[in-house]
Amino acid sequence: MNNFTFHNPTTLYFGQDQLSQLTKEVPKYGKNVLLVYGGGSIKQNGIYDRVLRLLDEVGATLVELSGVEPNPRLTTVHKGVDLCRGHQIDLILAVGGGSVIDCAKAIAVGAKYDGDFWDIVTRKAAATGALPLGTVLTIAATGSEMNSGSVITNWETKEKLGWGSPYAFPKFSILDPVHTQSLPANQTVYGMVDIMSHVFEQYFHHGENTPVQDGFCETILRTVIDTAPKLVANLEDYDARATILYCGTMALNGVLSMGIRGDWATHNLEHAVSAVHDIPHGGGLAILFPNWMTYTLDAHVARFKQFAVRVFGIEESGKSDRQIAEEGIAALRQFFTSIGAPSRLADYDIDDSTIETMADKAMVYGDFGNFKKLTREDVVNIYRMSL
Ligand code: NAP
Ligand code: FE
Repeated sequence: MNNFTFHNPTTLYFGQDQLSQLTKEVPKYGKNVLLVYGGGSIKQNGIYDRVLRLLDEVGATLVELSGVEPNPRLTTVHKGVDLCRGHQIDLILAVGGGSVIDCAKAIAVGAKYDGDFWDIVTRKAAATGALPLGTVLTIAATGSEMNSGSVITNWETKEKLGWGSPYAFPKFSILDPVHTQSLPANQTVYGMVDIMSHVFEQYFHHGENTPVQDGFCETILRTVIDTAPKLVANLEDYDARATILYCGTMALNGVLSMGIRGDWATHNLEHAVSAVHDIPHGGGLAILFPNWMTYTLDAHVARFKQFAVRVFGIEESGKSDRQIAEEGIAALRQFFTSIGAPSRLADYDIDDSTIETMADKAMVYGDFGNFKKLTREDVVNIYRMSL
């Protein structure tokens, strides 16, 4: 196990009716609130009205930024930064999924940076501070509600890049499983794939003596695998929604990566696909992860065997380690298909004509991945396998 420092300052309010915590949290930061949300789902399911009522109760003055895109864009971040500066915003309140929260993080940091926010994403400049940010999460997926990361798309340059800063942690996040009950089946599935993918990125490492970390990862994976069919069959199942919501936060709030160095190559591969084709993040991961696994299997067969046995309960007797590992990957493919996730880039009408462009995007910082370092040739091979 590597040395590590763990710090996570986000206060989490989890469970039914926790939205009322807004009346306690918002006044801590001031009167002027920038409410950030997406394309309107919060108006359809009633969350918007409830938030407005609570903000009104504490006498908050509201400025709104709506229309944050799935795969949030730099142009929207710029709009938000201008609103913060023009209205002396004291608190940013993001109500929505990972896209809304990631965009709000960028606005919070951008408002305190005296230059173009894209410089921070591209690592040409460091964050210098942030406005306080609170979130009301409406989809279990990214873990953005309790981490310091964010992913922003620059549609002009066709780049989708992750960035992070300790300033970007939300001050508080409110997670009510009821808020996720209106999520349609496809988005619910993409969210669960993203959660499993975050675990994979941290589970596939070369560290030794990590039994607790391995157990945490395997528990989350088995839990998602057990719960997903129930949830897909009944999208309003409160207990299943609560379980998945909790899995999503725990998968990417730093707990699983204590003492280990994760891989993160597949997220990079997916961001390049989304940058060019604007597909849902979880959909892209469902296609790419099994192919990354098949491609990198030989980097550490024992790790894939452990995954197969402990997560999918693959029978060991009379088989080679490689065979067991391959059956684990096949079981993952089958599981994704069984819950309705896509399995080929062709499912999004992506053919080989853009492989080179996507590879260029993926290689923006050079070779990547810690479990297996991927070169441009590897990237092209994995995209080809995924067609
Ligand atoms: P999302 O893009 O925030 O939302 C997807 C869709 O779901 C939107 O159309 C949204 O509609 C809808 N929606 C959300 N909540 C809903 C609800 N309760 N009922 C009905 N519809 C609802 O999805 P996401 O997977 O959470 O976020 C994906 C983004 O996060 C990607 O850009 C990805 O790269 C990034 N990401 C970030 C991290 C991180 O750590 N920061 C990690 C992984 C991925 P509306 O727009 O109308 O609300
Ligand atoms: Fe993700």
